Amino acid sequence: MRPTAPHHPHLTSVLVIEDDDTIGRHLHTGLLGSGYASTWCRTGSAGLAEAERTRHDAVLLDLGLPDIDGMDVARQLRAEFPELLIVILTARSEEIDVIAGLDSGADDYLVKPFSLSVLLARLRAHLRRRPADVQGTPRPIRLGDLTVDTVSRRCTVGGNDVDLRPKEFDLLAALAERAGTVVSREDLMAQVWDANWFGPTKTLDVTMAALRRRLHEAAESSAPGRPRLPHITTLRGHGYRMEPPQG
Ligand code: CA
Repeated sequence: MRPTAPHHPHLTSVLVIEDDDTIGRHLHTGLLGSGYASTWCRTGSAGLAEAERTRHDAVLLDLGLPDIDGMDVARQLRAEFPELLIVILTARSEEIDVIAGLDSGADDYLVKPFSLSVLLARLRAHLRRRPADVQGTPRPIRLGDLTVDTVSRRCTVGGNDVDLRPKEFDLLAALAERAGTVVSREDLMAQVWDANWFGPTKTLDVTMAALRRRLHEAAESSAPGRPRLPHITTLRGHGYRMEPPQG
């Protein structure tokens, strides 16, 4: 039997399979509060049954479940639902090698404890990379005289191409996609660098400085007249906000 349509067809639907009460509730309420549809199951068998019943976009899967080994759940889900995004949650960092080495079929993993904002940034990054058949092709973002096209990976200022390095472009896109809102350093690290990062985030500061310099240079060399560009505001210790130009 194929899964039926999601309960909320316009929302991204996440299935949480986690037996820990605190973590499960935190994920479930966090997802709901962030605009996702969320279903929480506490056992592997309940999770598999739910996946059969309803179509989900992503699964957050705890490895240490009371009934079925999480790795087996991952393999079964992958075999049945090739399109499903599977993110494994594990408390034991020594299991990373096993997750990565064995063909569990998982797309990503997070080591507990992890912050909700990191998890959400990862989800967004993964779901954005999925085939764009559902949402259609994203349009270039226009902010004043700046355009950011995430499909062709082109950035222009006043119609002229700006030569950006890959991480500079990703950083620009991450801010432009959420122009007007604060994007935390954690979110940017998770979304742009896309790895389990620990410790310093100096690479973010370096890339941000380079991005600002390149945009500034592009604006300076643009003729005639000075193009209207969004300003990137630094919120010390927290993150950045791209301010759309006025008027
Ligand atoms: Ca567990």
